[in-house]
Amino acid sequence: MSQDAFPDRDRSFALAKRANELMRDYGPSATPRAYAVWYAYVSGEVPLLNDAVKRLTADKGLLTEFDIDHLHESYLDGQRYAADASVVSRTVLAELAAVSEVLDLSLGSTQQYGESLSTLTLDLAQAQLSRARLAELVASLVAATREVVADNRVLEARIRESRIEVETLREKLETTRTESLTDPLSGLANRKHFEEMLRSSVAEVARGGTLSVIVVDIDYFKRFNDQFGHLTGDQVLRLVAVVMRESVDHSASLARFGGEEFGIILPGANRIDAARIAETIRTSMIGRELVKRSTGESLGKVTVSLGVAEYRRGDTPASLLERADLCMFAAKRGGRNRVVDDASIAPSQAA
Ligand code: GH3
Ligand code: MG
Ligand code: MG
Repeated sequence: MSQDAFPDRDRSFALAKRANELMRDYGPSATPRAYAVWYAYVSGEVPLLNDAVKRLTADKGLLTEFDIDHLHESYLDGQRYAADASVVSRTVLAELAAVSEVLDLSLGSTQQYGESLSTLTLDLAQAQLSRARLAELVASLVAATREVVADNRVLEARIRESRIEVETLREKLETTRTESLTDPLSGLANRKHFEEMLRSSVAEVARGGTLSVIVVDIDYFKRFNDQFGHLTGDQVLRLVAVVMRESVDHSASLARFGGEEFGIILPGANRIDAARIAETIRTSMIGRELVKRSTGESLGKVTVSLGVAEYRRGDTPASLLERADLCMFAAKRGGRNRVVDDASIAPSQAA
């Protein structure tokens, strides 16, 4: 509905608002009749009615139901009212337009309401409307509005439900994502997650700062498994994870690559810091005598070999990790149960 069809739309809204206020302040209730009286009053189109209203409110400070009926019958019924009806129609029409605009934003269930509004609009557009017909139209508007309010409540409940469903789905996805990034045995990040984190750490350090990486591999683990069984071997894997956690602060990222190899990303750590952490892990492992809980049998000690590499300009995630790996293998060759850092690895070997 275009505003051009009702050039005095703004005025009619202002009148309707004022009529409403007066009806609230002086009226017994918001009936269509009271509205008509107050509307006529604020529009000033029936001067005799205004005089009567002023008298009554001056006397009593309000209008009773009886006053409204009396005023309505005396001043607004019949021809007088017919003249005003078009004004009221326009007001109602403008209100319908406003409601329609709101409804346009709403969902399909309100379509029906929109249709009944259109029907009302057509009726109201007819110039001469009897009071009875207008009352009828207002009543059906009230009924339709009630319906749509009920519909909207259902809609609201549905939206709330969907929101809960969406939230549950989001949490599920989050859990799935976490699962897909976690090694279930150790609870550390898995290799895929480690690689993601390493990529972002390298991207970050390329803008400035330091970054080091440690690779940890259990010594003679095959032998251990063969001797004590895989399940006990799994306990050792968990122990290494615990020792690693205890040896770093929250800025570190820990991962199990799979098998008996682990990785640590240490943002902000240089080679010396990282080697110190690696040494803490190594000594912590040899400080623990493993005992089989079920039998009390001693399993001896499990040692680890660690390689440490510090980020160098031009490193990629792969080249940095490879250098740490090289160092870990050097530790194996050097006799295991030791830490080797990349200080002695020439830049040419790093690529
Ligand atoms: P090295 O000191 O040279 O590292 O010797 P190693 O025996 O540790 O190395 P190798 O790569 O020869 O053997 C790795 C062993 O790790 C093989 C397998 O028995 C064990 N292993 C790999 N993954 C798991 C696992 O998930 N659970 C258990 N219990 N053992 C595993
Ligand atoms: Mg290995
Ligand atoms: Mg090993």
